[in-house]
Amino acid sequence: MPYRYVRVFFAVFLGFTLTLFAVAADKSKSAAANANQPSYDLPQPQRETLDYGMYQRIRDEGLGHSHVMEYASALDDDIGPRLTGSANLKHANEWTRDQFTAMGCSNAHLEDWGEFGMGWQQLNTLIRMTAPDTAVFIAQAAPWSPATNGAINAPAVWIDVKDAKDLDQYKGKLAGKIVLYGEMRDVPPVDKPLFVRLDDAELKKLTEYPLKPRGRDFIEQYMKRLELRQKVGQFLADEHALAVVTPSRDGRDGGGSGGTVFDDSGAGFGWEAYKREHANPLPVVVTAIENYGRVYRLLKAHVPVTMEMNIDTKFTGDHEHGYDTIAEIPGTDPKLKDEVVMVGGHLDSWASGTGATDNGAGTVVSMEVMRILNTLQVKPRRTIRVALWTGEEEGEFGSYGYVKQHFGNVPLSTAPDQLKLPEWVRKPAGPVQLKPDQQKISGYFNVDNGSGKIRGIYLQENAAIAPIFAQWIEPLKDLGVTTVTMRNTGGTDHEAFDAVGIPGFQFIQDPLDYGSRTHHSNMDTYERLQPEDLAQAAVVEAIFVYNTAMRDQMLPRKPLPHPELEEQRRAPLTNIMPGAEAAEKDAKEKADQTPKEE
Ligand SMILES: [Zn+2]
Repeated sequence: MPYRYVRVFFAVFLGFTLTLFAVAADKSKSAAANANQPSYDLPQPQRETLDYGMYQRIRDEGLGHSHVMEYASALDDDIGPRLTGSANLKHANEWTRDQFTAMGCSNAHLEDWGEFGMGWQQLNTLIRMTAPDTAVFIAQAAPWSPATNGAINAPAVWIDVKDAKDLDQYKGKLAGKIVLYGEMRDVPPVDKPLFVRLDDAELKKLTEYPLKPRGRDFIEQYMKRLELRQKVGQFLADEHALAVVTPSRDGRDGGGSGGTVFDDSGAGFGWEAYKREHANPLPVVVTAIENYGRVYRLLKAHVPVTMEMNIDTKFTGDHEHGYDTIAEIPGTDPKLKDEVVMVGGHLDSWASGTGATDNGAGTVVSMEVMRILNTLQVKPRRTIRVALWTGEEEGEFGSYGYVKQHFGNVPLSTAPDQLKLPEWVRKPAGPVQLKPDQQKISGYFNVDNGSGKIRGIYLQENAAIAPIFAQWIEPLKDLGVTTVTMRNTGGTDHEAFDAVGIPGFQFIQDPLDYGSRTHHSNMDTYERLQPEDLAQAAVVEAIFVYNTAMRDQMLPRKPLPHPELEEQRRAPLTNIMPGAEAAEKDAKEKADQTPKEE
């Protein structure tokens, strides 16, 4: 133990009582005494034992002999977009399974996480203005849009609907029309780079812990907007409008312009458009904002506009299931091989690009992690298991489904206002129900923030793990990995693990042009992938996975979540005001002294 640690140790040590000392000594003395206690509950060593030789071998294989871009081209160019429920996604499930087997993994297979909804594919989307001038538009069908069944040519009309009651004025006026739905938004100049990296100041800011808890307001507002859209869609179908054109939303720093179209649940008529009972009731496309703007301005100035549309889409069944791809490198330590470390990301994407950065990137990084470790013929003490999830974009279904089947479940609120919401935004009710394997998984590592290299890791408020990861990244600083933050990050599959008390992590990644241009857009293609960044991410993640598989103990955990106690724990303290208490006592005494009337 180096001197400075001895000093710290004694300073802490002297603070303990003898009784506490006895307990601590007992804990470290014999593993047998703790045979029934999972190793994540035992005191963690001050110093990590790291295999620097393996650090170097992983760096050499992953940086010097990367194959990550070959996986990316096969996945994005050959298989293509991977909307959940689609034939392409099933193809990707099978291809990844076979690649895991080919690289040397064991037990590569698909696991069914349950019924999803409708299978859908965009075959063609053509839309143009035919009067007062001809103009060809950049457009994409909204996911799960029905087809127009051939070309339609019709007058265009813009509807001004901010509230359901605004619909009344359009009764009887929309039959046979192509409807523009959506206010024209600002199109700011792109005066900042669309492609950015985190600088030192931003990384430092990330290490500050925000003390104000985040509300759920934004989710509830978003769901309200979608509820209105669902009503509008039904109204337009009832009025026999032919089809709907919507404007693309914006991206960070004005990125939603210049040909970029964002095309996800927000483009259609409701979050659950993949379910038959919530299906888009008429064809709907999202157009580049500049195309939308031209028609919008003409219509507002009372210039008649006609448009031609031909949307061809294919539905492949109402009850498609979703699958996760799973594969392993088996553990070799007789005592630890039943314990698991998991790594992964989601395999599904939206449909207008090829899902290269969201989340082809996390997929090919996971594949490359497993390829590197197989190539180096590592003999991990614990089993290393990779999982490629699906249904992430619609509500993290694949990861939650897997966790529910293997590790545990968080019952959701059944309050009437909550039952109206899709499951993924419903409040947890608890108590958390655990399966035995929940005690056998050390941690889960996820990549789903685009193509950017890894700059650090979010601890998900797990303070006990901070000194461990700080030591792991020390030899990775030259690769730009510098930051360990207590902060939470959300919106992707590590949350499924975190929800049942398993350490689940997402890395801090350089943003690049993910938020400005590629996330859920028609420009999410192979060209937006940065090969050196992906190679770095695979190396860093492989080292995290390897360290987790090799250390003596499992990673320390946060206390198990107790959503069922949340309300009680947040309730204001009672009898807190000394004055109020006295007044109450006074009143009681007076009441006692008052002679009772019989
Ligand atoms: Zn994603």
